[in-house]
Amino acid sequence: MLTDVEIAQGATLERIGRVAERLGLREEEYEPYGHHKAKISLDVLDRLQDRPDGRLVLMTAINPTAAGEGKTTTNVGLSMALNRIGARTITTLREPSLGPCFGMKGGAAGGGWSQVVPMDDINLHFTGDFHAITSAHNLLAALVDNSLHQGNPLGLDPKRVTWKRVLDMNDRALRNIVIGMGRKGDGVVRESGFEITVASEIMAALCLATGLEDLKERFGRIIVGYTHDKQPVTAGQLGAAGAMAMLMKDAVKPNLVQTLENTPAIIHGGPFANIAHGNNSVLATRTALKLADYVVTEAGFGADLGAEKFFDIVCPAAGLRPDAAVIVATVRALKLNGGAAKGELGTEDLGALRDGLANLEQHLENLQAFGVPVVVALNRFPSDTDAELDLVRERCGQLGVEVALSEVFTRGGEGGEELARTVVELCERGSDYAPLYDAAAGLRDKIETIATRVYRADGVEFAPAARAQLAELTDGGFGDLPVCMAKTQYSFSDDPSLLGAPRGFTITVRELVVNAGAGFVVALTGDIMRMPGLPKVPAALGMDIAEDGTITGLS
Ligand code: ADP
Ligand code: MG
Repeated sequence: MLTDVEIAQGATLERIGRVAERLGLREEEYEPYGHHKAKISLDVLDRLQDRPDGRLVLMTAINPTAAGEGKTTTNVGLSMALNRIGARTITTLREPSLGPCFGMKGGAAGGGWSQVVPMDDINLHFTGDFHAITSAHNLLAALVDNSLHQGNPLGLDPKRVTWKRVLDMNDRALRNIVIGMGRKGDGVVRESGFEITVASEIMAALCLATGLEDLKERFGRIIVGYTHDKQPVTAGQLGAAGAMAMLMKDAVKPNLVQTLENTPAIIHGGPFANIAHGNNSVLATRTALKLADYVVTEAGFGADLGAEKFFDIVCPAAGLRPDAAVIVATVRALKLNGGAAKGELGTEDLGALRDGLANLEQHLENLQAFGVPVVVALNRFPSDTDAELDLVRERCGQLGVEVALSEVFTRGGEGGEELARTVVELCERGSDYAPLYDAAAGLRDKIETIATRVYRADGVEFAPAARAQLAELTDGGFGDLPVCMAKTQYSFSDDPSLLGAPRGFTITVRELVVNAGAGFVVALTGDIMRMPGLPKVPAALGMDIAEDGTITGLS
């Protein structure tokens, strides 16, 4: 079996201009970055504003194993399959982050015969968007510390500066640092830290923005800290928004690439799905909807996180109406959810699988509650046995839910045709999409709605700090913002060890943070990292490049 990078290296890529032309883009509407990548101008949205949108399909998953269950792979494979059966389709994805790439998870450009290419570029520096986001973020950080140093005209309390610095790397040693040490001219001493770029509010704001002007306004609203009497200080007050937006002049444009089968892919933005909303940029999705009949977009982690945020944060903010959802399930992750040991997921275990199906069932009920027709994509792994696959099909049949075996990893688009046909059928059926809550409901109400209806918690406990913040944020005028739950991806609960479909638990919200620029309030539960660390054996140790440029170990 060829590795991901070997398959990608063997691909015959089309010139990106060819891909753009087939989409009907005019020459002045895209800017090639080399031969196989291009930036798409936002003017396309104006030119095509009267063209009806294509169908919007959300790709989500059950609660995953640490390796991921194949949403990106299935997303890419499904889009190729749809193109094969004659439905003009664009896959939209998030840009991979270097943190997970070198850490545990590896790259995020799909896998096997369902990848986006050039996968090495996409996984590494791509078109420089992450550099721009990191720079815009750190410019604001530098302006904050300079303001403190230059007499602190805004009266910031150095102990209440919330804006940290970012880096696109898993580097736990930078989580907590002291800055400003040294002589008088070396800045104000205070504790701070680094977060990973995909956790940056700049990233979240980019992904929800409708254009550069809107992005600039969002930057202006970003809260960097508080004064001694707890008044928020914004990037706008620091005069930072203009320069930050300038740094984003190219990063704001969606990136066009292709799949292994030369179908179009738009990859743009990449916010974390645990502490942020976890979907590619709205600009990418909206551009794709104008250029294709079908758009398949991925939401990060399980449907309790990414899909809930897509339906409750992204769609209302962007005026999107999803037509269907695909939920990826694997026998492996179902067995894990049913109590099988991590090391035993390759061994047939019908008992654990049967128990684990409760996890899929709860996700299905939740997706249906959003009014969106849903199909289960059973992503086939080599270790799956026929008895196991049959059991999943049988259970879906009992639940009255469509299920399609997906073999896109081993067979490319051809292995996803059954899924593609089902997706087309679901889209014809029509969706009654509605978000779970009304924006005008209070913050507490919104959090309780998500916790009880999606996670099936008995209730929510607010730690004393969070209770005070509920009142402060509501008084501050942030009560109408949607809520972005920061929660473990492994469980419906806030305890990563409660797998399957746990009951009889409560969710503890320990802190609330307003991301005024992104436009949501983050409710922090459990111990969610904004700067991950590397595992004992990082994926980086298996990667190499030869003198002739041949890359190995990137997947
Ligand atoms: P997600 O987007 O859900 O995190 P990915 O699509 O990135 O998941 O897949 C996670 C990992 O599993 C990748 O390394 C991918 O190559 C691999 N993978 C996905 N589907 C299969 C499959 N059917 N067989 C073998 N490996 C797979
Ligand atoms: Mg993915």
